[in-house]
Parts: sequence; structure tokens; C-alpha cells
Amino acid sequence: MAGTPLWLDAGSAKDLSFVSHAHLDHVARHKTMIATAPTARFCRDRVGVKDVLMAPFSQPFELGDLSIELLPAGHILGSAQIRVTLPSARGGATAGYTGDFSLAPSVTVEAAAPLVCDVLVIEATFGLPRYAFPPKEKVMADIDAFIDRTRREGGTPVFLAYPLGKSQELAARLGAAGHRVRAHKTVWENCKAYEEFGVTFPNLHKFTDGMRHDEVLIFPHRAKGSRALEKVKTPRFAAVTGWAMDPGAKYRMKVDEAFPLSDHADFEGLLAHVKNSRASKVYVVHGFVQEFVRALASRGVDAAPLKPMERQQLELF
Ligand SMILES: [Zn+2]
Repeated sequence: MAGTPLWLDAGSAKDLSFVSHAHLDHVARHKTMIATAPTARFCRDRVGVKDVLMAPFSQPFELGDLSIELLPAGHILGSAQIRVTLPSARGGATAGYTGDFSLAPSVTVEAAAPLVCDVLVIEATFGLPRYAFPPKEKVMADIDAFIDRTRREGGTPVFLAYPLGKSQELAARLGAAGHRVRAHKTVWENCKAYEEFGVTFPNLHKFTDGMRHDEVLIFPHRAKGSRALEKVKTPRFAAVTGWAMDPGAKYRMKVDEAFPLSDHADFEGLLAHVKNSRASKVYVVHGFVQEFVRALASRGVDAAPLKPMERQQLELF
């Protein structure tokens, strides 16, 4: 943020940056990072961590002349939004920044909080009206039907999902529904890290080699071609991602099915979050920026695109 030492999800190492969550497009090895305990924990494994200013949710603290508060973002475990309040001598205005977030209920992630502020910076990964995610229960019912169908045909259901966040939500929901879940090493290790924060995964087992006929498997997308899968009998692949809403998604992703279980807000979720923020000015970053700015403007919101943040600090006020 211009006029302050603070960076928000800076893409390269800075003296001081807020890290909203531990996905790799949001982290760097900063001298000091402001983050929640789970985010710091996951960053330790992923990029290494120097100094952490660990902040619990909803407990404002002072940093120089700024007041800072982290609020849950509902995206992956520990994911946070930040609210920064300037000192009254500088107008006392508040800026809010979301990073990735989701308003949909989750069984593994803290529920997102509204981000009330004067100036809002919001991501727009799924900022087009066609991204209207069905309720997770409906997606899981479709996934159940896929599992049944695959087994009847003598195949093994293999779910391809992002290994941190999405895979844990999927593993927890599949396990709770009574499925025996096998998880790729990376997915399994991330599940163990979630367990350190009290999240539980019934019926979860690490994938080593081979599977029982009544098990389902979760693998990262990038491991789809790995030799480990040669031991799995007749794998049937299902991608689990919000991009499953795109026409022809399963053909482009070269999978048998694609299911839109997402950890991002859909279009209506983005609009609702803007409305609930009561912000008088909204900046849009990441994703369908121009389209979402137009959608906001047509609803009477003062909105503008924001350039990628690793190159400049934000001129918010
Ligand atoms: Zn993310």
C-alpha cells in the first residue's frame, strides 16, 4: 500500500507483506510476513519462512500507525482477508483486500466474514455470470453417481484436484460419506497439516501402491501421467475444479468427467461480497477484471481495474 511499508500478497520477496494464503501465486520468502498460523505452517513446507507476524482472525493489532485486522476468507484453511485502517491524522479510512475467497459453506475451512471497508480490493477469478456454482451437496451427489457408475463398469475413480485446499475439502466430504479414500503423498501430507489445526479426515489412507476395489483416489492434476497410476486398475479420471463450468471442460482437461467443486466465490458471490463491504470504491484484480469491473459499474458501483501488484504498491487513497 503506497505510503505504508505494507505489501499485499507480493509476488517477490519484500521486507513486509501480508500473505493471504499459501497457494504459490500468493507467496514469496518475505523478510517478515503477516499471516495466520495455518498459512505460516503451509508456507514453511512450500517456500520457507523467515519472520512471521502471526495474527489470529478478528483481533485488530497496531503496526506502526496502521491498525490491521485479518478476517477469514473461506478459501483454504487459514486463508485471510485484511483490513487496514489509516490513522485519523491521515483520514482514518479503511482499505480491505480479499485475495482468493469463497462464501460457500466448507467442512474444512473457516467461514468467510464480510469485509466492511471504504476501499475494497477484490479478486475476480470467476467474474463472469456463467460461473454459478451449484451447492456443494449437489456436486457431491453427482460425484457419488460417478463413483457408482465407474465401479459398475469395473473402473477405479481417480479425482484430480489442487493438492492444497481443494483436495482436503474433497477428502473430508468423500470420507464422511463413507468412501475409503486414498490420497497421493502431497495431498496426504497436506491433510496431516490440516489435522494439526483440528480438521479431521475419516476413512483417509495414504496411496502407496495399488488399491482395493472399494477405494477412491485423489491425485494432483500434475501427477495424472505419473507411473504410480500404472498400478491402478482402469482409472477413470474426474477433474474437480470451478473451471468445470466451462463448456467442453472435460475434453480440454482430457478427463472422463469434471465437477465444479470450487473454493472460489462464483459471480453472484463476488457481487454479494462487494455489496456487503459497503465500500465506496472497488478495485478489481486477477481473473476477469475488465468484465467484472463492467458488471459492477452497471450496478452503480464505482469500480476500476488494478494493475498487477508485484510491480507497484497500491495507491488506494
Ligand atoms: Zn488460492
